[in-house]
Amino acid sequence: MQTKKITVTGLVQGVGFRPAVAELAEECKIAGQVKNMGGVVEIIASGENEAVEKFLHRLSLLPVGRIDSLKVQDVPYDAACTSTTFVIAESSNGREEVRLLPVDFSTCDRCREELFDKKNRRYRYPFISCTGCGPRYSIQRAVPYDRDSITMGDFEMCPECLNEYTKKGNIRRHAQTIACHTCGPTLKLVGLDSGGKFVAIEKDTEVILAQTVKALKEEKIVAIKDIGGFHFAFSPMSSAAAKRLREFKHRDKKPFAVMFPGIEAIREFCEVSSKEEELLTSNARPIVLLKKKKDFVTEICGESDRMGAFLPCNPLQIILLEETGPLVMTSGNRGGEPIITGDEEMKRLMEEGCPDFIVTHDREILTPLDDSIYQVNGSFVQLLRRARGLVPEPIELAHPLGADTFAAGGDLKAVFALGRGKMVYLSQYFGDLEEVRCMKQRRNAIARMEGLLALTPEISVGDLHPAYVSAKETNAKVQHHMAHVASVIAEHQLEGKVLGIACDGTGYGTDGTIWGSEFFTYNNGEMERVGHFGTVRLLGGDAGAKDADKTLFSYRMEARERGLSIGDEIRQKTETDQLGEIERLQEMAWKQKINTALSSSMGRLFDAASALLEICHYNSYEGECAILLEQAAHKGKERFLYLPEAEREKLLTVDVTKHDDMWIADGVKLIADLSELKRQYENGQELLSYLFHHAIATAIVTMAEFAGKEYNKVVLSGGSFLNRILLSEVAEGLRAAGKEVYTNEKVPCGDGGIALGQIFYSMGKKFL
Ligand SMILES: [Zn+2]
Ligand SMILES: [Zn+2]
Repeated sequence: MQTKKITVTGLVQGVGFRPAVAELAEECKIAGQVKNMGGVVEIIASGENEAVEKFLHRLSLLPVGRIDSLKVQDVPYDAACTSTTFVIAESSNGREEVRLLPVDFSTCDRCREELFDKKNRRYRYPFISCTGCGPRYSIQRAVPYDRDSITMGDFEMCPECLNEYTKKGNIRRHAQTIACHTCGPTLKLVGLDSGGKFVAIEKDTEVILAQTVKALKEEKIVAIKDIGGFHFAFSPMSSAAAKRLREFKHRDKKPFAVMFPGIEAIREFCEVSSKEEELLTSNARPIVLLKKKKDFVTEICGESDRMGAFLPCNPLQIILLEETGPLVMTSGNRGGEPIITGDEEMKRLMEEGCPDFIVTHDREILTPLDDSIYQVNGSFVQLLRRARGLVPEPIELAHPLGADTFAAGGDLKAVFALGRGKMVYLSQYFGDLEEVRCMKQRRNAIARMEGLLALTPEISVGDLHPAYVSAKETNAKVQHHMAHVASVIAEHQLEGKVLGIACDGTGYGTDGTIWGSEFFTYNNGEMERVGHFGTVRLLGGDAGAKDADKTLFSYRMEARERGLSIGDEIRQKTETDQLGEIERLQEMAWKQKINTALSSSMGRLFDAASALLEICHYNSYEGECAILLEQAAHKGKERFLYLPEAEREKLLTVDVTKHDDMWIADGVKLIADLSELKRQYENGQELLSYLFHHAIATAIVTMAEFAGKEYNKVVLSGGSFLNRILLSEVAEGLRAAGKEVYTNEKVPCGDGGIALGQIFYSMGKKFL
């Protein structure tokens, strides 16, 4: 006889791990117990030597959750456990180095089958779940993960559920989210009567479902409570609903995401590669940006050649979509405001005109979570937003942190992070902190996450930008683009010398100018700026970033000072008296440096090109000009490939020169040359868009070769690398030059990933 104490770390809570262990122990004739301790699982296993060995071996192969480590110790049996059988014991607290909290799981195939099985007692029950599926992090109140530590604790199990919960071999044995028509959460449908008063239908699931489907078919807008918060849903065949919602959300053009009942339905509208299919059906059920084959009404995707598509992640969505077909599912809030989880707030919006109905339920959401967003970009899989289904899964570093650390992230696409040991836990996405409600939601989330992880940071680190509210109370600062680069080094656990390239819209530089196209060498934990695209004096500072015409104007002024010219004739063509007056004022402001900022932003360089080529003149949503420029470039590439090879490489290039110790790529001359080409090529919009991309990509590779001769590893980060042409051509060029290329895959390459970089780059540094 022998007795072992086994400590299991990994993703072992909220995944049906303990019941699986119990079943295995019973099969192997092992006595003892299994329990959640803090964030780990502790097992006492006692039996014949052979039985214990068999149990240990099979435990390591258990196909439930994810075991990261098994620590096995010999213990005297009586001291450990008094049971003569194998039991699932009461959970207890503990504070361990590595704590893994379960992510929210999408409905599993088995539950889906039961959902449509007329003989099943959970037939069409919108909250069906099991040990392998259902909400987790979004409803978790405390650790360890248990019925009473999640918001399902509000519902007392009926005898039948209790029986399943305790029965050996049942798929809902110890499923903490177990519920049924009798005992679990119920739907509620809220509408407004003709007098503007709220009316509600409660507890009659079938009536509510039928009315919801009817409303959606009648082009109504319905707010539906999902795992992480409310969505606004409406038919993608309805121009009227789309227009109404765009107006209500103050969202002019940004495409809406569409939820489809199944992968085949997506294929009808979009091209889906096998990698994209894998993402769409992955547990997070994320939105994946796909190439559009055909459109719904034009108000859904606008001018975009892509569509954000996704699949239902919970039983309610599955039931509804089966009957309605595809639905637009967009976050249920006004533009710029945080995702809504409470009925009262949604009712207020209803009174303001949108939605027409609210489908809600009585299971409380504790962590608001948006949908995660991915795209496949050449050989890379990129995250645009890391949220439901992925948070709070940590990123593992190569080396442990010296102290527990908080990283504030940035103010835009705000995400914070907490680090302990080798683990960095990134929060959900909060949007822009300019909005006070986003700030509040973030503040609550920090307290909640610190509590769940039992983590009290000793060090706090934020962005260098003096105006960032996120960084206000942090005691250390990391430059924005250094954090971007560091985030890639961190997630790929790179060692040794690295050349880092960060291209994006804006970040505060160490010299007080606005950076955005930065080349760094990384040695022994230190970064040094060794190159960038030329600095331009831009009108309007940070706030002018939306107006691409204004940016082009600044480029034109800069060019004129250097004896170059950027399409002055275009200006005359569109010039009215009023425009002329605006430009005279702008010229004065630019010359006298009133409200101007020096900037090496890649995003603004793309804006200037977009305005010059008359593709898009204003960013009504973030990155719109660059996105439409890229779209035109995809078409232009074909024409480019028809040109004689010797000729096409010379058409448009970027001058790269060294000033003091800094490599500079000349963006102003690039725009001037592009303007000259515009004169030569009639209807050349698309070709020139591509030439512009190609020239920038070539320049980045050249800079990397010049500035990083002894650097074999190159990392790419920053929002500009979401651009498919830029990323693939830069990566290809660098690989051809013998470099290893890395970019963000576990966190977004945009500002949603910088918190990871902040933690990594502050590691081991002494701060005052
Ligand atoms: Zn299930
Ligand atoms: Zn029940």
